[in-house]
Formats: sequence, structure tokens, C-alpha cells
Amino acid sequence: MANRTRPVKVGTIIVGGGHRPSVQTMWKAPLRADSLEAVAARVQTLSDLGCDILRFSTPDIEQAELLGALAAMVDTPLVADVHFDWRIALRCMDFPIAKIRVNPGNLGEPWKLREVAAKASDKGVPIRIGVNAGSLPADLKDEPDRAVAIMKTAEREVAALDELGFSSVIVSMKASGVEETVRANRLFAERYDIPLHIGVTEAGPLVQGCVRSAIALHQLLAEGIGDTLRVSLSDEPENEVVAGSEIVALASGVRTSADIVSCPRCGRATFDTHAFTARWADRIYSIRKPVTVAVMGCVVNGPGEAKHADIGITGAGDKIIVFRHGQIVRTCAPQDADTVFGEELSRI
Ligand code: SF4
Repeated sequence: MANRTRPVKVGTIIVGGGHRPSVQTMWKAPLRADSLEAVAARVQTLSDLGCDILRFSTPDIEQAELLGALAAMVDTPLVADVHFDWRIALRCMDFPIAKIRVNPGNLGEPWKLREVAAKASDKGVPIRIGVNAGSLPADLKDEPDRAVAIMKTAEREVAALDELGFSSVIVSMKASGVEETVRANRLFAERYDIPLHIGVTEAGPLVQGCVRSAIALHQLLAEGIGDTLRVSLSDEPENEVVAGSEIVALASGVRTSADIVSCPRCGRATFDTHAFTARWADRIYSIRKPVTVAVMGCVVNGPGEAKHADIGITGAGDKIIVFRHGQIVRTCAPQDADTVFGEELSRI
């Protein structure tokens, strides 16, 4: 874990200071007043899956106020993503918002940043500076090494808040390329004790985005760089959370929630492992204990291959069997598989 960084409080989560890297995702649509209850329910689902911090775009005052209303309905720390308008940042901080993402260089005149920093300081709200390779300042666009350009941009933004004595800062430096992202974060971590939010931006659709993110983020976390992370996918936030949690578990060597062993299926399968896993994945990933759940296609290899699983299910001819640590504990008809598995799962 990165213990080289200072701790920054984001609602109920401490980012940095050697704490386990927290997992973030981002809401993918504008908020609407008539659907806040449904959003709150989905925020709870994301939290159950391991989402520690959830970010929302706040492009106008209406979105800031809807986010403020939502923040009062959920326990998950919510982050307001503000780009240019200092008044939106100020309005967000009238509500229980856990963090503001804003780049000082985007706010315009220095007095606007002073007002935002003063209110953030007063309310105990940290600021995340987010530098993306796609929006570098004009004078750094021709810098031949983009990792250096990203790093220099972050340094400028940090300096602007530092001059105001504001230190409750988190920094992110993202590119869509793995190598640039890794190197920019390494350069920054060599010089600063500011916690880093790491991620590959616009990483792509589900499979490509998970692969790119895993390669970049695992490297950084293995070097002790990275205090919070997001896997950015052209896909649902639930998948970003599951992917982020898996990266943290593998990089830290410490699992705090369930994982799934599931067979790819072959000609021997008498059980549709793909459909079953899809139906049960969210429920399994919501188990906040380090247990292993196996979903296997056939009895030839199923329980034996998954003998270390705490609980498993497999096809066995025209039957379904449920096993624990490789030992059969229940046998049932295929139409009862979900019920029987659910009963056994609730006992672990
Ligand atoms: S568990 Fe059975 S169905 Fe699944 S891949 Fe192995 S042999 Fe094939």
C-alpha cells in the first residue's frame, strides 16, 4: 500500500496515508428530480459491490442541487465533478458533498479559486485535481514527452492551491495509453506526498478497458503508487467497481470480498455456467468476505478442479450438485438450482 502519501478524508473514506486503495466509479447520466430514489437504490448496489466513492458530473447549478439532494439520501461519499464554473463548486459545498473535482487552471481569475479554496477549507471538502492527456495547456501540447507534459500540468495546478495554503488535495493524471499513465504517475510520486487517484482514461469497452486498466494499475500499485482508483469503461459502473476491486485485491494480495471461479464451458458441460454466473455475479460479489465461489460445467472436473472453493455448483448429468471444498452437500433438479444454491450461499 502507498504509505508515502498524506491522508486525505473523503467523507467516511481516508485516501492515502497507507490506507487500502479505495475503489471509485462515475455515474453515467444526468440526474433527474423524478428518479433520485432509483438512483439512491443503485448507489446502494454499487456500494454493496465495493464502490467506496462515487463521482457525478455537475455541469450546471441544477445538477449540483440534485447531487446535493442525493448526497443526503445515501451513505456513499459523493464527488462533484466541476469543470469551469466556480459558482457550481461553491453551490455543491452547500450540501454534504465529500469531494470536489476541479482544476484551478479552468476557473479563470485567481479570486475565483480563492473563493472555492476558502469554502472547501471551511467545509472540510478536499479537492481533486484531474489532469487528462487530452486537455493539456496550450504551451505544453508540443512537449515531446506526454507523460512529462501531464506531470508539469499537475504541478502547476498543485502550486495554485499550495499558494493558498490548501493542502487537502488529491491528484489524478490520466491518459488513454498505459505507458504514459504509468510514467506520469511515477514522476509525480517521486516528488510529492499528495495522494494519487490512478486510472487509464477512456480505456475502452469492457474487455479492452479491463485489460489496459489492470496492466497499468497493477504496475503502479505494486510500486506503492496509487491511493484510490477508477477503471474507466464504456460499460456499466457495476463492472468498473468489480474490476477495480479485483485489481486492488490482486495487487495488495489481500482479498476482502468474494471471488468467482467459473469454468469456460466445453463440450462436456451439462450446466450453463455462463448464464448462471451472470445471474449470480452481483450477489456473489456483494459478499464482503474473502470466500471463493465456484460455478463448474460438469462433474468430470467440476468439484475436483474447484476443491478449494468455499461453495460451488456444477452440472452432473441431468442433475445439479452443490459442493463445499470439493465435497458434495446437495443434489437437485436443474429447475431448483437457483433456489438450492441460494440457500447454501446464505450459509457462508
Ligand atoms: S468443468 Fe467440465 S465443462 Fe467446465 S471446462 Fe472443465 S471439463 Fe469443460
